[in-house]
Amino acid sequence: MDRVNVQPGPIYLDHHATTPVDPRVLDAMMAVLRDIPGNPNSVEHGFGRAAASVIERARGDVAALAGCEPEQIIFTCSASDAIGRALKIATQDRDDLRVAAMTVEHPAMLTALRALEGNGRISIEWLEVDGRGQLDPASLERALELGAGLVCMMAANNELGTVYPVGASIAAACQAGALSLVDASQAAGRLDLREIGLQADFLVLSAHKFYGPKGVGALLVQDPADVPPGLFGHEATPNVAAIAGMGTAARLALDLMDEERSLTMRLRDRLQGGLVAAVPGLIVNGDTQARLPHSLHISIPGVANDAILTRIGDKVAISTGSACASGAQEPSHVLRAVRLPESLTDSALRLSVGRFTTDTEIDFAVATIAQAAHAVRAAREERVVC
Ligand code: PLP
Repeated sequence: MDRVNVQPGPIYLDHHATTPVDPRVLDAMMAVLRDIPGNPNSVEHGFGRAAASVIERARGDVAALAGCEPEQIIFTCSASDAIGRALKIATQDRDDLRVAAMTVEHPAMLTALRALEGNGRISIEWLEVDGRGQLDPASLERALELGAGLVCMMAANNELGTVYPVGASIAAACQAGALSLVDASQAAGRLDLREIGLQADFLVLSAHKFYGPKGVGALLVQDPADVPPGLFGHEATPNVAAIAGMGTAARLALDLMDEERSLTMRLRDRLQGGLVAAVPGLIVNGDTQARLPHSLHISIPGVANDAILTRIGDKVAISTGSACASGAQEPSHVLRAVRLPESLTDSALRLSVGRFTTDTEIDFAVATIAQAAHAVRAAREERVVC
């Protein structure tokens, strides 16, 4: 794989929050911005038809990544927008839908579901997770027995990196006559989604999680006949360059999937091994048997995570939680759901490597984080002695 130094400056280990735009994606977007001025809805002339064909090519590329037909793909402004649309389709003929959803879903899903619940449109059965963040299958069975008509599941968690048994859950939902909505935002490009794409009623993607631009996503709808014209009101003129970027990112994600999985897993294991060796007492959180290849979630007991972030400053970019929860003083809902003890929640750090991460960067990150942890511990011991 070409190694392109896309980002000078701090070492970027926060690929769960977002990924840098791949230079090949940028080239595709720039070519559209420069050469294709038409509105894709203006199909009476060549400018419009050229823009429309850019979108159709991207639709084919995204469909290939998701394992579906191009006509099953709707481009959206984001994963959040795709989730909202999927819920609109699922609830269009009903105002009493019982929805089963995981407690550890992304806020994009939780907020949309709670808004519908608040309006009395749905009721929610929460699916619990165990201490590793793994789904409790009995809670799904219970929800289906109670008559859940829609099962919402993430393919992989954005904090712990836990990978969920989505195929089996969709099959159980289908057998019980329920629809399935899968948020694959974190999984795209890291797990093969093609089996899931064949089965899920709805599948959600976000381009900026797999080296595409921000502000564009996609919704796979298994049966496009479920989307009557006008269901979403007036559709704005599509962002042709962003969609072209998402298409290119999807093509690269599919082409590079195996290579990138091995690369990121090797780098993540190097990061994990280095930190475990250098920082006594460090704990690896989550389900290490079912985890995204690029993902590492740790706690350093007795070392507050914000003290680490302050010390590593702008040398290494990592986070204390999801991009949406970080900055908030509250522990994230995911760490609460897995019932992590307070000492591990306060010291939790989320790290994720990416397509352009190098061994040298990993070694530098290990040394920098370990040094910060030692310094925080030494300062605390000094205070205790005083
Ligand atoms: N779902 C998951 C699992 C995510 O990680 C994110 C992004 O953080 C989203 C949804 C929302 O994505 P977007 O920024 O495209 O709305």
